[in-house]
Amino acid sequence: MWTLVPTTFAGKMLSTFGQPLGSLWRSLVPLLCWLKTVLWLPGTQRSRQQQQQQQQQQQQPRKEPDENREEEKEDILLPTTPTSVNYHFTRQCNYKCGFCFHTAKTSFVLPLQEAKRGLLLLKEAGMEKINFSGGEPFIQDRGEYVGQLVQFCKQELRLPSVSIVSNGSLIRERWFRNYGEYLDILAISCDSFDEQVNVLIGRGQGKKNHVENLQKLRTWCRDYRVAFKINSVINRFNVDEDMNEQIAALSPVRWKVFQCLLIEGENTGEDALREAGRFVISDEEFEGFLERHKEVSCLVPESNQKMKDSYLILDEYMRFLNCQNGRKDPSKSILDVGVEEAIKFSGFDEKMFLKRGGKYVWSKADLKLDW
Ligand code: SF4
Repeated sequence: MWTLVPTTFAGKMLSTFGQPLGSLWRSLVPLLCWLKTVLWLPGTQRSRQQQQQQQQQQQQPRKEPDENREEEKEDILLPTTPTSVNYHFTRQCNYKCGFCFHTAKTSFVLPLQEAKRGLLLLKEAGMEKINFSGGEPFIQDRGEYVGQLVQFCKQELRLPSVSIVSNGSLIRERWFRNYGEYLDILAISCDSFDEQVNVLIGRGQGKKNHVENLQKLRTWCRDYRVAFKINSVINRFNVDEDMNEQIAALSPVRWKVFQCLLIEGENTGEDALREAGRFVISDEEFEGFLERHKEVSCLVPESNQKMKDSYLILDEYMRFLNCQNGRKDPSKSILDVGVEEAIKFSGFDEKMFLKRGGKYVWSKADLKLDW
């Protein structure tokens, strides 16, 4: 169209100036009108389009600068740091809790030197806290194995926090004498202060009383300066219990209260060693338990939702266990492929870990305890 404009304009000029002066004005008026139509309209349309675009941009919600930065951050796949690791080095246990979700599927335990090599790899990758768990950690070499690992992590690796979760039944005072100084926190599992309920759950062993044992451990922790913690799994058999008094008397630094969780292949499903369906409680029942104990300041609740994917779990082969699909799918061992490669398959949700308060004052040096 624009190539036609100069040609048409020249034709109009020639015909205009070829006429006598009297009719010149009459000819100029349509010429000027034509010029306005050809040159002015497209400009007007363009400016209208620009106005429309500006209006559309104004109507879209504005993104704050920080919002943009957050999106950029999520786009970059940062390697996960194994800040806090739970190493279930054995699956063997002397108890038979009906809801256990780390069952005795193998009897394998790594040689001590290999376990230490793996722990060194984790420390180099950014580990600050290690928690030894099982099965029952004190079953291997009568506690010597876990003692050696605890000492290695504190003395050699200088980790800020070293802890153990145990059912407490196999711990002797001699162990505290030898290794207590290297341990920050000892968490003892206790689901009920009624011995009959403990037996029903599977936390009983003959004449030994789980609750009496708990008292003894509390005293040793005070004597050997180890922070004392209690873990309870709330389930069908203890959901109506009132534990306020007993917890206050034991005064743990932390009382972790878990909602009973089903894990395919561990405590539910065809190839599982347990069938925990009869232990499960609803979210409302769990909330009811928490409400009853809301005055306990050290209580840290953990619903199924919070537990999901917020723990870095290493099994007996030092493989990360991915619980994203409701079962425990293992990665390759960190001893074979290194931490960075194995952790990609861990399913670990670092945001959820922080959201559930996974990072807390976890070194006894910082706890400022009144022993
Ligand atoms: S004490 Fe722990 S590891 Fe042992 S059976 Fe009970 S839940 Fe499982």
